[in-house]
Order: sequence, then C-alpha cells, then structure tokens
Amino acid sequence: MTTVPQTPFHDGRSIPQLGYGVWQVEDEVAADVVEQAIRAGYRHIDTAAIYGNEKGVGRAVAASGVPREELFITTKVWNSDHGYEEALAALDTSLAKLGTDYVDLWLIHWAKPTQGRYLETWKALIEAQRRGRVRSIGVSNFPAEQLEEIIEATGVVPVIHQVETHPYFQQRALRELEQRHGILHESWSPLGQGGELLADPVITRIAEAKGTTPAQVVLAWHLAHGFVVIPKSVTPERIVSNLEAVGLVLSDEEVARIDALDREDGRIGPDPAHIEF
Ligand code: NDP
Repeated sequence: MTTVPQTPFHDGRSIPQLGYGVWQVEDEVAADVVEQAIRAGYRHIDTAAIYGNEKGVGRAVAASGVPREELFITTKVWNSDHGYEEALAALDTSLAKLGTDYVDLWLIHWAKPTQGRYLETWKALIEAQRRGRVRSIGVSNFPAEQLEEIIEATGVVPVIHQVETHPYFQQRALRELEQRHGILHESWSPLGQGGELLADPVITRIAEAKGTTPAQVVLAWHLAHGFVVIPKSVTPERIVSNLEAVGLVLSDEEVARIDALDREDGRIGPDPAHIEF
C-alpha cells in the first residue's frame, strides 16, 4: 500500500502531504468513496461543513477499521458561522456529524472581508485548539491583507493556508508571504478540476515520457514544491492512481516546464477578496 510522506507544521504536528478531497460528493457517496480511499492508503480527508458530507465521512472512518489516531481529518467553518460563539457552536455540530471528538485541522473556509468577522472567528479557532477540540488551526481563501491582520492581532500564525493552486494559477506572491511566516501551502482544485490542464501538451508529454497519467504529473508538481495536495475523485481507478503520484519524482527541468504554465487569468474559482456568498 502507498505510504504518503508527512509534512511538518510549525506547531509541532504534521499532515500527510497528499489527502483526499470531498467537495461536491454527496453524503451517501462520501460514505462509500472515503472508505475506498482509506483502504487504498489515504490517511488525510479534506471536508467542510458546507460540503454536507461530514456524516458520510464519519461513517466511512468508522467502517474503515483504521484507528482514529492514524487518520488526519480537516473540516472548515462556513461563512454564515463566522463570529466567536457561532464558530465554536459550528465546530460542535461538525464534530457530532463526523462522530469524533476532535479534528486534526480546522480551517476558516473563506475570510470574506466584506463580512468583516474573520478576526473574531480566528479567535474561536485559537480557543478550540486550547480546549483540545482541534489539533491544529489554519485558514483557507485569505487575501494577503487579512492573513497578515489575523497574525498581527493575535500573534497566532495559521499552520496552513488552503487556496486555489494548480499549474495555471500558481499563487507566487501569496506563497512568498506564507513562507515568511512558516505557513504551509495547500492546493485546492490541484488538478484544475480535471479540465483543460490535464490535456495541456506540456503535461501530457511529461506523462508520456514517464509512463504515468497527466493527473499524476500535476500532483507530483505540487508535491515537488512542498505543497499539501487534496485531489478529489469518485472514480475507483483514479482514487488509487492519484495516491500513487507520491512515488513519482519530476526532474528540476520538468518542474520548470510546468512552472512556466502560470497564467494571469488562470483562476477557476472565486477571488477570495471579493466573494459575496
Ligand atoms: P480537483 O482539481 O481535485 O479535480 C477534481 C475533478 O477532476 C473531478 O471532476 C474528478 O473527476 C477529476 N479527476 C480526478 N482525478 C482525475 C484523474 N486522475 N484523471 C482525470 N480526471 C480526474 O478539484 P476540486 O475542486 O474537487 O478540489 C479538490 C479538493 O479541494 C476538494 O474536493 C475540496 O476538498 C478542496 N477544495 C477546497 C476549496 C476551498 O474553498 N477551501 C474549494 C475547492 C476545493 P471524478 O471525481 O469524476 O473522477
């Protein structure tokens, strides 16, 4: 079975560098595919309150027979639950659905600057960690300004920042800021949601030369940069082959060719500075 390397957090803990993402996976389906993923060797599951599948993830974890302490579970607090008390209450709900008394990583899903409650919410994450309800705390979808603000205001640095990242959208400026603070970079939509990117000639040529799939090449690129990566698939063969990307090593030259695919307009999802949901 494939073993995934651990990447250290600045808080002394660590995270399996490749995990399994479950956005847009129905609760019933999650119960099945997450169990398949765990059997294949994934030990890190990335869910969120808003995905509506925390119960399914919890059922899969229970059915897998793998001890809870060997699994790494991330969930996220949704925008409508921002605020100190609101976020702590939302965590209780998430934990009940997951059927666990702690998560390994709790993230603020979006800063949502126009709502202006991300700092209070960050303080709730700090408190939840103090209470032992979450092992590590981080953020997702934070523009640089809001990321610096929560660090300055609390002195507590998120262990990780989960944002859209793939070869067409490489987040270079944000990565520099994260590096200065010792924050790990985590890539969401790492495969560019399975679209055009996987047919890019640079990617397919490397895949042909190495006898691998385009998705494995893209995942190996994230891993080569030290990013944490959470590909999603409900297709049994892809669940397995994506995980096997941890065994694929790209040369510096191959990494550089993929680095050169970065685009000004490569973003697929919403811009965290301007969301209204
Ligand atoms: P991904 O980049 O992981 O792409 C998923 C898509 O690619 C699916 O359609 C899947 O199809 C397809 N796919 C997967 N593996 C392969 C393969 N080997 N070959 C060809 N196609 C493949 O997109 P996501 O947006 O799902 O991102 C991954 C995870 O990131 C999410 O599940 C979630 O956990 C997290 N995320 C977090 C966000 C945030 O705001 N914090 C926002 C978005 C995502 P199929 O399933 O049919 O196999």
